[in-house]
Amino acid sequence: SFEIIFVGRSNVGKSSLLRELFGAKVRVGKRPGVTLRPAHVHVSDLLITDMPGFGFMSGVKDRKQDIVKDKTVHYIEENAERIKLGVLVIDSSSFPQIVDRWDSKDQIPIDIEMFDFLREVGIDTIIAANKMDKVKESDYDSLLDEIAIRLGLEPPWQNWRHIIAPISAKKGDLKALKSLLRERLHEMKRDDL
Ligand code: GDP
Repeated sequence: SFEIIFVGRSNVGKSSLLRELFGAKVRVGKRPGVTLRPAHVHVSDLLITDMPGFGFMSGVKDRKQDIVKDKTVHYIEENAERIKLGVLVIDSSSFPQIVDRWDSKDQIPIDIEMFDFLREVGIDTIIAANKMDKVKESDYDSLLDEIAIRLGLEPPWQNWRHIIAPISAKKGDLKALKSLLRERLHEMKRDDL
């Protein structure tokens, strides 16, 4: 089978994105950090997996965040053979600052850690740069360059259009992501989406 895994911090808009992409068949539990198990949706022959949101969770102790991270890593390791594609959802507008805040504390930001980890285990990973509707048109390219830099991808970001998909789940503007997903599926001789 063919699995696509969606990961991201809480509140980046992962649920909104999944709802837009696959309809109402996604996670219902809304409170961040409540669900520790991955949620699965079948879309024709595809297995879509929504991992619990990691990182910031209001009112949840640090320990719980580590548990979410460990469980996610464990799930990915266990199922790496089957997981053909990863989608890391980020909140574009706050991503550079969040990464820099962790860096200044000599910690590896969880998003970066996940991106590197997914790629290390051989999972092709797309960045869904969400909430682009919050970004002024004049800042659009420079923000995406900043995001690329944090991910270790040499700017200009346009060179990474096969990895970075600027989207707005709220506005339903998912063109960039949909075309990357279709492209990847097509490469694997599938046309589920
Ligand atoms: P999740 O915790 O990652 O599943 O995030 P949700 O889908 O619950 O969204 C968190 C918040 O971000 C909600 O208030 C959404 O309305 C908002 N949101 C989601 N996508 C977008 C987007 O593309 N643009 C903006 N401005 N807000 C968004």
